[in-house]
Amino acid sequence: MFDLRFDNAYVRELPGDPLQGRNPRQVESALYSRIVPEPVLKPQLLAWSEDAAQRLGIDRTGTDPALLADLLAGNRLLSGMEPFASNYGGHQFGHWAGQLGDGRAISLGEVIGADGARWELQLKGAGRTPYSRGADGRAVLRSSLREFLCSEAMHHLGVPTTRALSLVLTGERVERDLFYDGNPAMEPGAIVCRLAPSFIRFGHFELPASRADLALLRQLLDFVIRRDFPAIDANDPQVRYARWFQDVAARTAVLMAEWMRVGFVHGVMNTDNLSVLGLTIDYGPYGWIDDFDPDWTPNITDRHGRRYRFGQQPQIGFWNLQRLALAVAPLCDDHNALNDGLQLYADRFEAMDRQHAADKLGMAQRPDDGELQADWLTLLRDAELDMTLAYRALMSFDVRTPVEAFLASPRWRDACYDEARMASQRSKAADWFMRYAKRLGEDRLSTESRQQRMQSANPYIVPRNYLAQQAIAAAESGDPGLLHDLMRALQTPYEENDLTRRFAGRRPDWARHRPGCSMLSCSS
Ligand code: AMP
Ligand code: MG
Repeated sequence: MFDLRFDNAYVRELPGDPLQGRNPRQVESALYSRIVPEPVLKPQLLAWSEDAAQRLGIDRTGTDPALLADLLAGNRLLSGMEPFASNYGGHQFGHWAGQLGDGRAISLGEVIGADGARWELQLKGAGRTPYSRGADGRAVLRSSLREFLCSEAMHHLGVPTTRALSLVLTGERVERDLFYDGNPAMEPGAIVCRLAPSFIRFGHFELPASRADLALLRQLLDFVIRRDFPAIDANDPQVRYARWFQDVAARTAVLMAEWMRVGFVHGVMNTDNLSVLGLTIDYGPYGWIDDFDPDWTPNITDRHGRRYRFGQQPQIGFWNLQRLALAVAPLCDDHNALNDGLQLYADRFEAMDRQHAADKLGMAQRPDDGELQADWLTLLRDAELDMTLAYRALMSFDVRTPVEAFLASPRWRDACYDEARMASQRSKAADWFMRYAKRLGEDRLSTESRQQRMQSANPYIVPRNYLAQQAIAAAESGDPGLLHDLMRALQTPYEENDLTRRFAGRRPDWARHRPGCSMLSCSS
């Protein structure tokens, strides 16, 4: 059945916590604590990613469903598994928070998959660990479903991300105070089995650095470079460390540019939630841009400062990299190399963002296009247009049709949330489209190749907040059908077909201010 080859490098090569048990504690001089999942009452498989399973080389046909659910809930372990919770710290909302660690995620081991790649298997919601700090170590269905759905969708959108293999119900209920307003309720518990080549976060380096434990810091960095960055093979540690930081910076730049391209808002970009591999990690109160608003944040905990708002993500990526640079600086003789990494981040992000802006509008890249691109974003915001639908509508813009006719077309009007707002921007929109038509004419791209370029830069569907919320409501009442349909459609998010069309509509009015659709909390 599950014939997996484990190679548990992290626990084999790095120092662990000498103490046992789940009691909350500060874990010094160690990078993890060995801990087994806490069994759950009645696990039941709700959703499964065949694509992720194939990477691992798992074939579940013929497997007893009860056994499968037991494995994916952590009730049973396979031989070769060596479960542990990882130890890391982090800056949360701009402030150093000390030791955090995996408070409810338990890694089962590292598998060498059918694809030859390393995949760490991790159960989120698997019970208490020494890092749970008094919390229950569990996760609820709504947040687990959101992580399962969105991480797989991100993969198919081409955005670097951790993956998800399965979503199981635990058969237990979990108490959560959704809006932190003194109204706790019981909710169904769930566990996601997620996968990544590595779950190492910026905060992994910050914690030993904060304790001035340079030996541990160096051990971790050498290990991470060896295991997760094999292309960096310089003998000189100084060269290795510099290249590593620059590599992390470049990956983070790509990640930020990709989030901005597809309209994803992470919501909690604390340094403990940033992967050194540049993967989207820890899906919490994330959200997708419906009407284009760079100031929007889905996270109600962040509604005052809006630190993690959509438009600020690239700056926060930079801020987080600065924290990482400070953490590894004690190991580096030449701090200029770290500054070079930060500069590389800024340059790489800008270059990629410029490329995306051109691709999304279907134009060749030209240095004098900045104003046209900026005015488009202003129009999106001021006319309250749906980001995803407006870009796709542009694909059908024909320079030979009068602008007025285009603005009256169903494609364009589908992208409008508010007719009055659009009407107030009509002359600006008409002016912009005249300039756009002229600009397109200068490119000598055939309509087909322009559309092709636009199609691969602009998703037709994304896992909109309200869609996830509908899938949650259905799953909570016992029907995972909508989740399955969404998962299937989101395997081809750039294509317009019978599967995807069903999920392409803009956010309905009822979802505008609805919890779970436009406002999310960290409670999960
Ligand atoms: P997050 O904001 O979800 O990334 O979580 C921040 C920290 O809180 C991490 O160390 C988590 O492991 C921990 N945490 C969140 N929820 C729970 C929970 N229900 N039980 C134990 N630890 C938790
Ligand atoms: Mg986290």
